[in-house]
Amino acid sequence: MPKSRIMAFTWATVKNLFSKPATSKYPAEPIAYPEGSRGHIEIAIDDCISCGICEKSCPPRAITVKKPPEGTWAIDRMDCIACGYCVSVCPKKCLHMVAGYQTPGGEKITDSFQRPHMGEEYLKAQEEKKKAALAAAAAKKAAEQAAAPKEAN
Ligand code: SF4
Ligand code: SF4
Repeated sequence: MPKSRIMAFTWATVKNLFSKPATSKYPAEPIAYPEGSRGHIEIAIDDCISCGICEKSCPPRAITVKKPPEGTWAIDRMDCIACGYCVSVCPKKCLHMVAGYQTPGGEKITDSFQRPHMGEEYLKAQEEKKKAALAAAAAKKAAEQAAAPKEAN
């Protein structure tokens, strides 16, 4: 081996002995995601209006939106390609790209979120609203009928 190569090898060895390791001590130390890393999608479900635009725009069809009374928003994490398109089309700006990747695993993971006051609570509120509207209409009709003879005079 040429002398210059031996010198370079020796220098690299000595340098590596006294320099910090290139790898991190993950998971003992928190991971630092690279700048611009897309990570994963998170939703502020309270602001979602179940419009379904994100579902229609998602290229791999990873999002499923169920309108009220279900009022759910679900994402198949294994199908998402982190393109960020849903984030840009959401009219309520309730979708965000957050650093951090899906934990590897053998099962397909679907995360599902429900808007507040949906499901049974929503149905009950709708029923009460309907009853109140019917009662108001009946009261209005009764008042009109009571006022009718007076108007004729
Ligand atoms: S980031 Fe892209 S692939 Fe993932 S849910 Fe949004 S639109 Fe679909
Ligand atoms: S586009 Fe936004 S508001 Fe509409 S369903 Fe998707 S997350 Fe909800």
